[in-house]
Amino acid sequence: MKIHEYQARQLLAETGIPVPSGTMVTSVDAAKDAAASLFDAGATLLVVKAQVHAGGRGKAGFVKLCRTPEEVDEAATFMFGNKMVSVQTGPEGLDVTKVLVADGVDIESEYYLAITMDRTSGANVLIASSEGGVEIETVAHETPDAIKTVRIDPLAGLHPYQAREMAFTVGFKGKQVGQAANIMMKIAKLVDETDASLAEINPLIITPGCNEYPDGQVLAIDAKFDFDDNALFRHKNLQEMFDPTEENPAELEASKFDLNFIALDGNIGCLVNGAGLAMATMDIIKMHGGSPANFLDVGGAATLETVTEAFKIILSDSKVEGVLVNIFGGIMRCDVIAEAIVAAAKEVSFTVPLVVRLEGTNVDAAREILTAAQPELPTMQTATDLEDAAQKVAAAVATACA
Ligand code: GDP
Ligand code: MG
Repeated sequence: MKIHEYQARQLLAETGIPVPSGTMVTSVDAAKDAAASLFDAGATLLVVKAQVHAGGRGKAGFVKLCRTPEEVDEAATFMFGNKMVSVQTGPEGLDVTKVLVADGVDIESEYYLAITMDRTSGANVLIASSEGGVEIETVAHETPDAIKTVRIDPLAGLHPYQAREMAFTVGFKGKQVGQAANIMMKIAKLVDETDASLAEINPLIITPGCNEYPDGQVLAIDAKFDFDDNALFRHKNLQEMFDPTEENPAELEASKFDLNFIALDGNIGCLVNGAGLAMATMDIIKMHGGSPANFLDVGGAATLETVTEAFKIILSDSKVEGVLVNIFGGIMRCDVIAEAIVAAAKEVSFTVPLVVRLEGTNVDAAREILTAAQPELPTMQTATDLEDAAQKVAAAVATACA
């Protein structure tokens, strides 16, 4: 589960990581009020930031520095009125329903800091770079040496010496080292306590020196978290941060029925049971020149109810021009699945080609059920095996689209 920047800032602040103060608002008027309070409190620079579950906002014009109430008004009006399109969102972009109005800061330099799972070493790693602010993928590609990593022992946690060494290695100087190392220790603890699979501060910045911080202050001004869904049950405070408006509506609908829906770019909807079978189904569709629009994994319980919902969700995807049902009846009997498919297909009623491939227990009875239903479901074809199914659906969709 992902959260918004304003929520991430709240978690960081609660842990004692320094973050400029700010308020999340849902309207232009509220943005103006929030800005007025910050200006009244003595701020001279504010930053207005769209809150969406995607990065690259700065380049897309959705992070704006503002020095006057008029600039805040203009920035908020623009953000609430336009979709945020960045390299991370795809061309369709994201609606902005939440905006953060925060104290802006002067920046001396920008760093990158993250903790995430490293599957090679089987542990979390602390990642840091002096090339902060920009996308870390670009840094990784162009100047991989600028990214430093250190493995975090799962039992002992991040050691203070590792944090200090990392702070020195990426170039923090003087009193910045202690501040940066302290932030690293705190974020490591936070990751541990929240079962986060990713915690990222980008940028972690240094402000120009001042009386209180002669070497500058190290601050987090953007943060991103991803939490392990399987561990969410033990974090009530995190569950409350879930924002359904940021989720794909079809994926959200599917999750209500314990179905796993994944949206993709092609035009063939796939109804399968089991993630492995889903992968194999998509591979073989691709091999035969087709392209999956999505896959929906009905899991172990392909009942009339779940298959009906699955059909509805798949067909509500406007990209779908054909459907492939590929189900293995292991514990489930194929005849029960066939009945569910026929009933669901009748209930949902559709005109796109449907190819059904069933295998497993009672498959002969299942084939009879499908054959008997053929006159009522004219776009349905049955397939004998996966190869046959993929060929049939790819050909049917190609013909339908020609
Ligand atoms: P992202 O583009 O979605 O990752 O959004 P960020 O919050 O990281 O902002 C992008 C960039 O805007 C940062 O790397 C900074 O260069 C700049 N920026 C953000 N907040 C401030 C601020 O308070 N002061 C200044 N001077 N620049 C900022
Ligand atoms: Mg950022």
